[in-house]
Amino acid sequence: MKTQVKPVSPEAIAEAAQLIRSGELVGMPTETVYGLGANALDETAVKKIFEAKGRPGDNPLIVHVSSLSEIPPLVREIPENAKKLMEAFWPGPMTLILPKSDRIPSAVSAGLDTVGIRLPASDAARALIAASGCPIAAPSANRSGRPSPTTAQHVFEDMDGRIPLIIDGGACKVGLESTVVDMTGDVPRILRPGGITAEMIAKVAGAVEIDSAV
Ligand code: AMP
Ligand code: MG
Repeated sequence: MKTQVKPVSPEAIAEAAQLIRSGELVGMPTETVYGLGANALDETAVKKIFEAKGRPGDNPLIVHVSSLSEIPPLVREIPENAKKLMEAFWPGPMTLILPKSDRIPSAVSAGLDTVGIRLPASDAARALIAASGCPIAAPSANRSGRPSPTTAQHVFEDMDGRIPLIIDGGACKVGLESTVVDMTGDVPRILRPGGITAEMIAKVAGAVEIDSAV
């Protein structure tokens, strides 16, 4: 497979969206790091992500949406404190873990009963999701064990020959992974530190816990 790299343009976004709809993978810019995107509702497409990355199947993927209205079908409930955090920090570098609905294939959640959801700040990422007409599951676009890519060139180095298209949106603004916050308990719990700090979350939600694994 020949891997093309195209700068962000309406034509490139349309081509990438067509690939996503047809079950292919696309390297996509976000404000955190570059993602390796697939239709989150297509189990066969999602499995290609694990193959291309060499990622163990027990490591769940984050599902990206382009607007709040796309979330209700993907989850069983949105707790009040999750709504507050969404309002405060989205679009942006924060992933919320919520109870998943049946629409999310178990390959995405690695068999868990929950799913990580994020509304990215990157205009190119949101444009691609909206044009695809489906949520996009996207881990960092590196081969497993390699650093997360913050430029399209980094993605090309890891994914050349493995995916058809990389959208080049320039260097990532944040350059650091999203903060992962588990919203399934009474108090938000940080599972992975990132751009949004514990203090920022506590200010909005009233309290925060930090997982012992952090
Ligand atoms: P990556 O996309 O490579 O940055 O990896 C996504 C990370 O988000 C995973 O390695 C987990 O740490 C976290 N994550 C995603 N979904 C879940 C979930 N349902 N429960 C707990 N953690 C999750
Ligand atoms: Mg990663």
